[in-house]
Amino acid sequence: MKLKLITIMLVLTTGILCAQSDKNTNSHQEIAQKTNEIYDDLVKIRRDLHMNPEISKQEKRTSEIVAEYLRNLGLEVKTNVGGYGVVGILKGGKKGRKIAWRADMDAIKTDEADVVDFKSKNEGIRHICGHDVHTTIALGIANVLSQQKEDLEGTVYFIFQPAEETFTGAKDMIEDGLFDIIKPDEVYGLHIGPEASGVINVKANELFAYIKTLKVKFKPSANEKELENFMNTILKGYGRNIEQNGSPWDIINKISDPKIGLANKETIFKDYFIFQGARLNTDNGVTFYNASFLETDVKKVNSTPLEIKKQILNSKFKDAFISIEYSKDYSGTPINDPELTTISAKTLRNTYKKDMVKQLYGQTPYFGEDFIFYQQKVPGVFFFLGGSNIEKGIVSMPHTPNFAIDETTIKFGVQSFASLILERTNSK
Ligand SMILES: [Zn+2]
Ligand SMILES: [Zn+2]
Repeated sequence: MKLKLITIMLVLTTGILCAQSDKNTNSHQEIAQKTNEIYDDLVKIRRDLHMNPEISKQEKRTSEIVAEYLRNLGLEVKTNVGGYGVVGILKGGKKGRKIAWRADMDAIKTDEADVVDFKSKNEGIRHICGHDVHTTIALGIANVLSQQKEDLEGTVYFIFQPAEETFTGAKDMIEDGLFDIIKPDEVYGLHIGPEASGVINVKANELFAYIKTLKVKFKPSANEKELENFMNTILKGYGRNIEQNGSPWDIINKISDPKIGLANKETIFKDYFIFQGARLNTDNGVTFYNASFLETDVKKVNSTPLEIKKQILNSKFKDAFISIEYSKDYSGTPINDPELTTISAKTLRNTYKKDMVKQLYGQTPYFGEDFIFYQQKVPGVFFFLGGSNIEKGIVSMPHTPNFAIDETTIKFGVQSFASLILERTNSK
């Protein structure tokens, strides 16, 4: 019911959006110009954040820098929302839609040496997921849009989230009353991806596979090895569209491949089940079988444990079976609103370059993102923004030792998404 209503409203929106684009042309030119003007300062901020990375739930310094920057722009600022979360509120000169933009701030523990000159000063911590750039881009957007206040019909909310890497920050901010402070109609955000700098990737619905850990309990079995083999065989039986040798995909080289990568309709990263890492251990008189898997289809995520249970109950292990469940650990995929995905891709293409936005057809394996928690409350879109520059030897594949970002990506990010937000606030 609700979904249908939204569809009708959004169809109307598209029409008005086209008519409004002309009116906003000057604003977009100004956004691009202002972005150029603040670019050097943004690079300085990014490098400072990069040199002073903070792990999940310890983003004190980062959040203070963010809050001060937003206050200096004249935004209303709330701090310590769900930990070190910061919210900035930018009210436009006229009434309009309310749009939220989210950036995450935390870094990661790693002992791999930094590959840039402005090395991390905090031993064992680095921004190898690009959140320093996410934070900087969001500050840049806040800056250029605050200079467009009179032309802004509506309100922009900036959500600076802590603890994304632990999948807790979004939840903590929401539980601490985020949606009492802000009432967005739509929510957007981005993650740096391995595409060329400036290329924006987007996909309706799930961006990633679902990652789940299955927990099956048995009474202690006489032959544990046999039980483990039995369970592994069941799970392997669900494998779809992957090489079944158990080795993980080499995604660094494959997800950007023009023939089999995510942006090709024939991508191999479509409709798959990957079973990985099984453990059997006995504790306090109960034998646990834990196995994690990646599944692209949400229906199968839900039905798989029931089917596995059936197979166990039809086997010689039926008397030993106690229960089957997913463990509580959560790693989610963003689920992009299909209508808003279409509208925002069109807006970006019309405002800047036609080939700037590439649609994805596959679901990236192995990654999760807690942006889904916002999308469970408000429809929205999560983008990938390419950060690589192969000629310069820069490859921005998150969580890899050589992770780096071409800094001109900051410029692309600020101007593109400031323009998108302006179009969305000003849409009816
Ligand atoms: Zn990460
Ligand atoms: Zn990340």
